[in-house]
Amino acid sequence: VFKRKTKTALHQESLFKPIARDLKNDPKRIIAHLDMDAFFASAEERERPYLSGRPIVVGSDPSGGKGRGVVSTANYLARSYGIRSALPISKAWQLSQEAKRAGKPEAVFVGCNFFLYEKISSRIVEITQEMLQEFKADLRRPLIEIAGIDEFYLDLSFLGDYKKAERFGEKLQQRIKKQEKLTASIGLGPNKLIAKIASDFQKPNGLTVISPEKVDDFLKDLPISKIHGIGPKTNLIFKTQKVNTVGEAGRLPMDFYQKGFGKFGEDLYWRLKGIDSRPLERPTKAKSIGCHETLMEDTFELGKLLPKLEAMAVEIVGRMRRDGFKVFERGVLTVRFSDFVTKTRSKTFSQPISSKLELEKWATKILLTFLDKRENKTGQSIRLIGLRIEKMK
Ligand SMILES: [Mg+2]
Repeated sequence: VFKRKTKTALHQESLFKPIARDLKNDPKRIIAHLDMDAFFASAEERERPYLSGRPIVVGSDPSGGKGRGVVSTANYLARSYGIRSALPISKAWQLSQEAKRAGKPEAVFVGCNFFLYEKISSRIVEITQEMLQEFKADLRRPLIEIAGIDEFYLDLSFLGDYKKAERFGEKLQQRIKKQEKLTASIGLGPNKLIAKIASDFQKPNGLTVISPEKVDDFLKDLPISKIHGIGPKTNLIFKTQKVNTVGEAGRLPMDFYQKGFGKFGEDLYWRLKGIDSRPLERPTKAKSIGCHETLMEDTFELGKLLPKLEAMAVEIVGRMRRDGFKVFERGVLTVRFSDFVTKTRSKTFSQPISSKLELEKWATKILLTFLDKRENKTGQSIRLIGLRIEKMK
């Protein structure tokens, strides 16, 4: 029901972005890519210590093997059963049952709790910002690019050399481990392309440093599919040339790329040589900020619903301020009843709102109408609530 930008979407060929053509990497640049390890699954494991040491699959409801939808994240134990992101949930269920028959523990299936993941995600960014401050970075420049809910790029060029950048990375990993009880993998390299491949190189809890002189060696034997932007279609064209590794691809002339891949050819040529000068992107201003939560059990009790609403208002107003907005002019409240009927009410306020309290007050007023005859004639209990703000300034 809730569409989210997933990791797979980011890897699609259609999202191939051109790279500026500088023909070589800037020798002064040091870029880090941080990627949380099995993020959703690790977050669930942390929240429920009794799941510790068990295979965990976060995704849609498997409904005893008949469920539709896919796996969002599997922890490393579940991955050893062959369960991975984007696999149909019914297939994941089958694999878990097979493992059970072989005497291994059955996987635990858990629904997505984006509210929790967003909260952790913004705390990881805060921890990173604190560290940048401690290391005396010039924070007027954009040094963090949030690339996804569990990954971001850092510009560590200000540290001056890779040894210092490596220490920064180690310290950041330790701090995330200590404060959030989660592990992250970090890659360091002369650009975003190399840093991202490096962070994936020794998961989980890895720190991989690819200084400029090591780039060619690092890339040489990697399968070309490791290069961001190369998907199955592109791969096929390389197969016809009997090319499998980045090193082999690098020996093909520019002409081959321009003829074979059209306007992406030139970028691909440089990319395969590990050259990339894309800058860190500033955060795009969000058009709305919101969250929703499916309750542990359907309820009619105001005493259970109001604390949720308050937590959401706190989170939303906090995120609004972090994103550089001061006020918002529109609120949206969504309720899903136990019969899955979903209702949404919104309001554009005559005066812009800046406080969490005012948001909470408005949302409570609307919520009350969903609990009595006004909006709930058949007396359904509530399964999910969602709150969102729009028109931020
Ligand atoms: Mg990750």
